[in-house]
Amino acid sequence: MAKQPIIPLSSGSIIGIIGGGQLGRMTALAAAMLGYRCHIFCQHEESPASQVSAMRTIAPFTDLNALTDFANSVDVATFEFENIPYENIRHIANHVYVRPSCDCLRISQHRIIEKDFLNNINVPTAPYRKITNLNELEKAVDELGRPSILKTTRMGYDGKGQILINADSNIENVWEMMNSDEAVLEGFIDFEREISIVIARNVHGTTVAYVPAENRHKNHILDITVAPAKISQKLSERARLLAHHIAVEMNLVGLLAVEMFVTREGHLLVNELAPRPHNSGHWTMDACFTSQFEQLVRAICGLPLGSPQCHSDAEMVNLLGNKVENWHAILTDPTAKLYLYGKTEVRSGRKMGHVTRLQPKSNI
Ligand code: AMP
Repeated sequence: MAKQPIIPLSSGSIIGIIGGGQLGRMTALAAAMLGYRCHIFCQHEESPASQVSAMRTIAPFTDLNALTDFANSVDVATFEFENIPYENIRHIANHVYVRPSCDCLRISQHRIIEKDFLNNINVPTAPYRKITNLNELEKAVDELGRPSILKTTRMGYDGKGQILINADSNIENVWEMMNSDEAVLEGFIDFEREISIVIARNVHGTTVAYVPAENRHKNHILDITVAPAKISQKLSERARLLAHHIAVEMNLVGLLAVEMFVTREGHLLVNELAPRPHNSGHWTMDACFTSQFEQLVRAICGLPLGSPQCHSDAEMVNLLGNKVENWHAILTDPTAKLYLYGKTEVRSGRKMGHVTRLQPKSNI
């Protein structure tokens, strides 16, 4: 049985963060502002999060002894990315409260479990089929039509593990390329735009949501987020209601990002869930009274949630790969807010930092 945290967690308590990336880094910085210390569990030396945290454990996510010691050293634990084996996060949860819960992680780790969950609670998604062999793929392509997208069920992010099936695709080749015994085929959505909404829910079940933001991708990787999304009030409210419904049904304690497609007919389809801070919520650091990172800390430590209201419009641009080399020029604009993640190795498409620029709030 996990030790019950005393709520609210007192100043000086230790938040365990599983994962050492930039999301952990920015969460640790927000935690420090509220008087907490962080212990990072990650697999690599010199991670962005451990650079700014009081404690670190460097070990594989499968090292049960290291996970036990980590769990026993913290007052509450959270995760900053989804690709941690479920059994291992369960192991941590035997010792300390993990927020959001292991169940939230289980749902978001697997595209079919995620889509089944959403459809069972009447949240619309793109049409999809589970695929385990070539015959099933051929039948599903006939049913969902071309184009359609074949995706891995696990470990997919930033478009990795996705194959577009178009009019010329040879299905046998596609299945061979997928090289997996389980995948999901999704109908292709010719969307008008992509939006996301970040919602927080605390231990008492109170929720607050940020306004939806609009996301533009390049090569399947988030490039720019514009907030608020240029959508009608009515659509914005529908997105908020969907996110709230999902957060309640997941019994979320923490943060949830909900990525959605806006179809040309004005319908919302949920594409992905991420029960953690999200790249499309970085703009909240500068444009809102409470950032998504502070909100997560408040939610999991039993503090009142802060206002998600934005006081400015924002545009957040990711510094991907060698775009980061431009950081000095960015600073010649004295109003640009630059964040560098402390990663020493530049790789193509790697998220090295981001920059946010604010504008006076418009009345949409
Ligand atoms: P995902 O890894 O599922 O978030 O997909 C990455 C990006 O691929 C999305 O943000 C969309 O731009 C695009 N995409 C994913 N699924 C679909 C779909 N069913 N129809 C059209 N575009 C998609």
